[in-house]
Amino acid sequence: MPTPRAPNMTKGLKARYGSTVRKRVSKVLYARRMTRQCPSCGSANLRRVSAGIWSCKKCGYTMAGGAYEP
Ligand SMILES: [Zn+2]
Repeated sequence: MPTPRAPNMTKGLKARYGSTVRKRVSKVLYARRMTRQCPSCGSANLRRVSAGIWSCKKCGYTMAGGAYEP
């Protein structure tokens, strides 16, 4: 069975900018969208609000982190 990979997140770019750059952008966009574990309550509800701001949907905990991943 093939290993699962992150889906292609750069459909809007069509065939532009080259495949290597598109793959790198796709990885960042996928990391930005996925939810993380909240360091406060431990649930997987930590979402990106804006660049560097991560907030938990369950307990309301907000923290500073990386721009695309905490
Ligand atoms: Zn939480």
